Amino acid sequence: LVVMKDVNKHYGDMQALKQINMTVGKGEVVVLIGPSGSGKSTLIRTINRLETITDGTITIDGVLLPEEGAGLAKLRSDVGMVFQSFNLFAHKTILENVTLGPIKVRGMKKADADAKAMELLKRVGVDHQANKYPAQLSGGQQQRVAIARALAMEPKVMLFDEPTSALDPEMINEVLDVMIQLAKSGMTMVVVTHEMGFARKAANRVVFLADGQIVEENTPEEFFTNPQSDRAKDFLGKIL
Ligand code: ATP
Ligand code: MG
Repeated sequence: LVVMKDVNKHYGDMQALKQINMTVGKGEVVVLIGPSGSGKSTLIRTINRLETITDGTITIDGVLLPEEGAGLAKLRSDVGMVFQSFNLFAHKTILENVTLGPIKVRGMKKADADAKAMELLKRVGVDHQANKYPAQLSGGQQQRVAIARALAMEPKVMLFDEPTSALDPEMINEVLDVMIQLAKSGMTMVVVTHEMGFARKAANRVVFLADGQIVEENTPEEFFTNPQSDRAKDFLGKIL
């Protein structure tokens, strides 16, 4: 579904991504891990063109990701993204946060958008908060709303960049549980996370990045029990 071919990304003199070749199949869950500064956020942000690439190609469901224009907006709406910070609209209610995209971008009728949003809020367990504002919710609840908001656009793929790292420990699992359910439902996902429990439970594949390069990729079982490269062994030694 997502195919990255020979992707390079430079920030001035610094090369943040080096010859990235990565394929994410439909329904596949890929966890990206690696040391700080290895290029995880840069990589995931190129998939919805929040970052431009220097060269190479990225296709989503067979469509080449364009540099700009109307095609970009369309393709971007196929790609849902959840960030570390929840990025909800502070002056809109939880329900409005979820219905805004479907109404504005998809042209959905308000009643339909409301009904669908309530369904999604129920799925992530925050339907009782629909008429509250983001500041009235806990971090874990806000992040679950952010997931519902992304799902409301019916994306083909969901990207997560450290979705639980800004949360208090007791809220991490409620967000991971929603993500695990989503993975089980067949959603295609690319997830940057330090939560190795999530990788073990939900990932089909772990991709290990270091210095902007894919150093190793494997099933979670293989990767965690039998890492091949010194970089991966060293990294796992520090975090496990
Ligand atoms: P972390 O685990 O800390 O989030 P990361 O793996 O997500 O790290 P990136 O944020 O992708 O790493 O950064 C990769 C490299 O690119 C780093 O060396 C970083 O300093 C650099 N970089 C990232 N964004 C920019 C930018 N806007 N301008 C210049 N350099 C950048
Ligand atoms: Mg990052």
